[in-house]
Amino acid sequence: MTVLAITEHRRGEVRDVSYELVTAGRELADDLGTDLELAVIGGDVEGFAEDVNRDGVDTIYTVDEGEEFNHGVYTQAIEQLATEVEPTALLMPNSVNGLDYAPSVAEQLDLPLVTDVIDFETNGNLEVTREQYGGKVETTYDIDADDYALTIRPAEWPKAEAAGDAAIEAFDVDIDEDALGTTVNGFEEVGGGDVDITEADVLVSIGRGIDEEENLPLVEELADTLGATLSSSRPIVDNGWLPKNRQVGQSGKVVTPDVYIAIGISGAVQHVAGMKGADTIVAINTDPNAPIYDIADYGIVDDLFEVVPELIEEFGGEAPNI
Ligand SMILES: Cc1cc2nc3c(=O)[nH]c(=O)nc-3n(C[C@H](O)[C@H](O)[C@H](O)COP(=O)(O)OP(=O)(O)OC[C@H]3O[C@@H](n4cnc5c(N)ncnc54)[C@H](O)[C@@H]3O)c2cc1C
Repeated sequence: MTVLAITEHRRGEVRDVSYELVTAGRELADDLGTDLELAVIGGDVEGFAEDVNRDGVDTIYTVDEGEEFNHGVYTQAIEQLATEVEPTALLMPNSVNGLDYAPSVAEQLDLPLVTDVIDFETNGNLEVTREQYGGKVETTYDIDADDYALTIRPAEWPKAEAAGDAAIEAFDVDIDEDALGTTVNGFEEVGGGDVDITEADVLVSIGRGIDEEENLPLVEELADTLGATLSSSRPIVDNGWLPKNRQVGQSGKVVTPDVYIAIGISGAVQHVAGMKGADTIVAINTDPNAPIYDIADYGIVDDLFEVVPELIEEFGGEAPNI
């Protein structure tokens, strides 16, 4: 009996969700009284294994197959590893990659799969919680099976920080090239260049309150002045004013900055789903009853076109004339 968690890397770096999987995996392993084992697949497996060697991990399996993510390689590797170690719980990230291979792996291993898990509890059987109806309700599922697969929502568990002393073992897989179906030639970021809002410490986020695309330089200047990154709610992206990789929320990105400044954003559940993990939330909104104020630590109930220029000047910048 063990808990096996599949780590994730991109462009040569272990992604934060891998460290969150260590925390979630250790929690579950403690509840079940089992070991926590990790798998690192592809790329610089030795380097990645060192990175994810955090306190609470018992064994890290390195699978030296390929440089970039490949659905077929991951599916076959996880299937063979899981067949060998027989995990009670197979944990995977609820990321673009994780959602690509998790259903296939679960099907191959004949495991029940619950995706986008935000909490779990062992109570005889395992009970897992996920959101439904666009985050409006939380549902708890009782898993009536001995072994199961879960995908864990990023940013729901804290990252494991302390160094560990896990055993690192190379695991050889036998990849059936004919069954791969795809060849990965490299990694190309789609639209919006190199900005990754999930890595930003401070986000200046703009919503429909900005009114016109021509007004965007105002918030861009605030972001520049603060050394922050610009993000947005969905309508800004839907209007084509900012690229999709800037969108925060349920159908955008989940962010966990130190400071999130929500400007002209109402705080719809689908938006909040992406930013409620920020340490400090500052809202600027003319409507004192806007839902964003339910989760904001600081609020300025005023017109953004009055407040933002003052903030820019307060922090040493120069507000553009718009
Ligand atoms: C399946 C689904 C997925 C979705 N995914 C996402 C998602 O990932 N991310 C997301 O953001 N949304 C998402 N949405 C949309 C979401 O429901 C909301 O429509 C959206 O978040 C609203 O964006 P907003 O807050 O910018 O606009 P609004 O709700 O229109 O709010 C604008 C706010 O600006 C304020 N305001 C107006 N003028 C000013 C001013 N001059 N100064 C200060 N404040 C002002 C208003 O008081 C208001 O509160 C999704 C919806 C669905 C159905």
